[in-house]
Amino acid sequence: MVLRSNCIDETGHIYGKLEVIEPIRDPTKYRKLMWRCKCICGNEIVCSGSDLRAGRRTSCGKRCNHVINEIGNTYGTLIVLKRDFSPHN
Ligand SMILES: [Zn+2]
Repeated sequence: MVLRSNCIDETGHIYGKLEVIEPIRDPTKYRKLMWRCKCICGNEIVCSGSDLRAGRRTSCGKRCNHVINEIGNTYGTLIVLKRDFSPHN
């Protein structure tokens, strides 16, 4: 989707536990620009850029509060880069 020049491209930005995946048009609110975000718990939500930037949305909801955001933490010589959503065998 092509963004208007006055829109802030949030793709790839991290807000708390949310990573912004892509912009979408909200079909109900006058086609307002919204953002699809992936939470570190694996849930996906849609929220507005203003909510993200104001810190009003930092996770998908209360259900994932037990999931600790480890991204950026260091353990010895290891640095946590990202959460792996793939199933582990
Ligand atoms: Zn979550």
